[in-house]
Amino acid sequence: MTVHRYHRQTLLEGIGNEGQERLRSASVLVAGVGALGCAVADHLVRAGIGHLRLIDRDLVEPTNLQRQCLFAEDDLGSPKAAAAANRLQAINHEVQLEAVVDDLRPTVANDMVDGCDGIADGLDNFATRFLLNDLSVKYGLPYAYGGAVGYEGTAAFLRPSPHHRKHLITREISEQESGPCLRCLVPEAPPAHHTPTCDTAGVLAPVIAVVAGLQAAALIQYLARGEHPLPHVLTRFDARAMRMHQLDISGSRREDCSTCIQGQFEALENANGNQATTICGRELIQLLPPEPKPTDLDALHQRLSAHGLFERQTFLLRGTLEEEFDEEGKPIGLTVFSDGRVFVHGTLTAARARAINNRWLGG
Ligand SMILES: [Zn+2]
Repeated sequence: MTVHRYHRQTLLEGIGNEGQERLRSASVLVAGVGALGCAVADHLVRAGIGHLRLIDRDLVEPTNLQRQCLFAEDDLGSPKAAAAANRLQAINHEVQLEAVVDDLRPTVANDMVDGCDGIADGLDNFATRFLLNDLSVKYGLPYAYGGAVGYEGTAAFLRPSPHHRKHLITREISEQESGPCLRCLVPEAPPAHHTPTCDTAGVLAPVIAVVAGLQAAALIQYLARGEHPLPHVLTRFDARAMRMHQLDISGSRREDCSTCIQGQFEALENANGNQATTICGRELIQLLPPEPKPTDLDALHQRLSAHGLFERQTFLLRGTLEEEFDEEGKPIGLTVFSDGRVFVHGTLTAARARAINNRWLGG
């Protein structure tokens, strides 16, 4: 008998051929195919997961190549989800891959987890992470949370209470092994435009490898080993100090959590969240937050000044970004108001305007 490609994995105690079969029948949603999404998907595909659905709205850009491990120079300008799926298929022909080139938003979110057994977070903003958290609680799916910016990264493998689960899935999270959801840990998204993003603060690529490794290690073990209880911990990695810090979150479920205790799926039901409206033909797109979000324009001015020419005016901040161009090759302009409204200037789609908003202003 020839040694099969998963031999070194099936040798592992607790996985074996049975675990490998469980992986083959499992399906995972990779939400966002940027740096984290690429690295997690690479691990899952090599491990022999049966089916992977990849969703991302962006195109591959030159600044992605420093850290987004599935892309090469040939992929520049291609949709990330499609380019990643091509590369992953070349790595493992046995895996079923599905590429979705779209914005992960409430109207498509339910379909995205149809038939899935787990969710991998490759996102760059909290608004969409809350959407994943709603899906995780509603469908009883484990959620491999991850984030990386600057020299630091965070990962947690969240298995919320199955209390509100409304749908049949392959592998049920028992009440006993369940812990907090993301909303228990972070009840509200950080104020708009206050959070650094990879595009404004930079990111050290190996930090992403560490975080994605933790996310994938949890998902593979969970899906292959069935009963093995992984601990409820939030792991932080600081590359400058070369230190890992672990926080025990086993007791962090909030008694009044609106999502996993009260069963309100705010992000999923908020179909008009971050509503995009085209103004003046297609020259300008307005992004409206669901509720006014006070914005510290001075802090934002300081951050954006490294990436373009910005001018602070009484109620707003206005300027152009050096690294973003519209469909006609003109620099993209931004106007940010103190109530959180944003104008994205240029000939572009609503999805692109949302992407630019999340990239430069944080979600
Ligand atoms: Zn919760």
